Formats: sequence, structure tokens, C-alpha cells
Amino acid sequence: MNDSTHPHHETTCVVVGGGPAGAVLALLLARKEVPVMLLEMHKDFDRDFRGDTLHPSIMEIMDEIGLADRLLQLPHAKMRTMTAPTTMGPVQVADLGRLKTKFPFITMMPQAQFLDFIAAEAKRYPNFQLVMGAMVDELIEEGGAVRGVRYRGEGGVHEVRALLTVGADGRFSRVRKLAGFEPIKASPPMDILWLRLPLQSVFIWWAWRLSR
Ligand SMILES: Cc1cc2nc3c(=O)[nH]c(=O)nc-3n(C[C@H](O)[C@H](O)[C@H](O)COP(=O)(O)OP(=O)(O)OC[C@H]3O[C@@H](n4cnc5c(N)ncnc54)[C@H](O)[C@@H]3O)c2cc1C
Repeated sequence: MNDSTHPHHETTCVVVGGGPAGAVLALLLARKEVPVMLLEMHKDFDRDFRGDTLHPSIMEIMDEIGLADRLLQLPHAKMRTMTAPTTMGPVQVADLGRLKTKFPFITMMPQAQFLDFIAAEAKRYPNFQLVMGAMVDELIEEGGAVRGVRYRGEGGVHEVRALLTVGADGRFSRVRKLAGFEPIKASPPMDILWLRLPLQSVFIWWAWRLSR
């Protein structure tokens, strides 16, 4: 019996986090006719910058689920080779054309556009529900098991009861913390240093390069 005073929803699987992992999982479940509710804390998919590249392996997965052709109809650019500027002139460091794949290129497309596409595809299934502006901050626990989540969103606190709760809320996952899971620390094969620069300093660098 539910004696909570919060608005109450029922589903089979609640997925917390509408990034690539959560959105694609929700789509795959919806396609298999599993009732699924996707909760995303932001009001749109245009979050903090998360890159523009869809790699050949991602395109192969999109192809497997029959979405690659339509995805490639959206505005994008294709990167087939990579060139590094050196003192001896530009040097080609990668030629993706040598990969044995149907998609020997990197598809350059903002992640927000990719996520909009996946969400639109999932919305075609009546058993899929998407709630934007839904900030999950509590798990519903009963009898030693997680039975769903509570989120803050339009109209206050809501409850979603589900057989399965998935935390796809990114590297600093709140769901993971709430559930008391310790992430396994792994050493990534590469590190990327990412920083913001004022546009003015980019122009100064560009002018310096042209003057040499
Ligand atoms: C600056 C930057 C550039 C990148 N560039 C690329 C690139 O070009 N190509 C590439 O393939 N990868 C790139 N990556 C990596 C890629 O973005 C991540 O691997 C990918 O986004 C991870 O997907 P995810 O769904 O696991 O998590 P995330 O994308 O982090 O998504 C998690 C989602 O959960 C939501 N959320 C968080 N907490 C809650 C909560 N409590 N309640 C509800 N929702 C919540 C967040 O708003 C978010 O939408 C980049 C990453 C960064 C940081």
C-alpha cells in the first residue's frame, strides 16, 4: 500500500539520467515493450558542453538498431582524417578510412542533437515516458530493496515506483551514492585536459600562428 502524499507514478523500469547511457537504454527497453520512465534533471538536453563526436563503434550500434541512416540525415560533419600541425607542416596522424567498418569516419554532431533524436525515437513508443526537470534525490526502499525513486520537479516532490531502478546519472551519480555503491576505480587509457578559453585569447593565438 502506498501511503505517501506525493504524486505517484508506476512503471517497470525507472532510468535516472537522460545522458547517452540513460536515453539509449530507455529507448531499447521501450522497443522491447517494457514500460520505462526516463527522468532528467535538466529542462532540455542542451547541458554543459559534452562533445560533438560520434565514433564509428557508436554508428555501428545505431545501425544495428536501424537508426544510423536517419541519424545521418541530421546536420553533421564527417571527420575522415586527423591532421596535426607541426613545425614541418601538417602531418596526418589518423586515417579512419582504413577501418573495416561501414562508418569509416567520426560523425561530428552536438550531443544535445543526438539526445533529442534518441528521445524523439523513444517517444514513438506508448510505454515510454520522459520527464524533464526531474531531479532525483531519494530512493524508495522497502524490505531491503530499492522500489523506485523520489524526484523534485514540476509541482513538487513525485514518487516513481518501479521493479527496476537504473542510475545513469553520470560519473558523480547521486543514485550510486544513495544506494551505497563504491565505484571500481580504473585507469583510463588516455586523459583529456579540457578547459574554457575566452574567445579573445583564441583570436590572439590564431593571429600569432598566422604571423609565423
Ligand atoms: C567536456 C566533455 C567533452 C566530451 N566529448 C565527448 C565527445 O566528443 N565524444 C564522446 O563520445 N564523448 C565525449 N565525452 C564523454 C561523454 O560525454 C560521456 O562519456 C557521456 O556523456 C556519458 O554518458 P552518460 O549517459 O553515462 O552520462 P552523462 O552524459 O553525464 O549523463 C548523465 C545525465 O544524468 C543527469 N542527472 C544527473 N544527476 C541527476 C539526478 N539526480 N536526477 C536526474 N538526472 C540527473 C544529468 O543532467 C545528465 O543529463 C565528453 C565529456 C566531457 C565532460
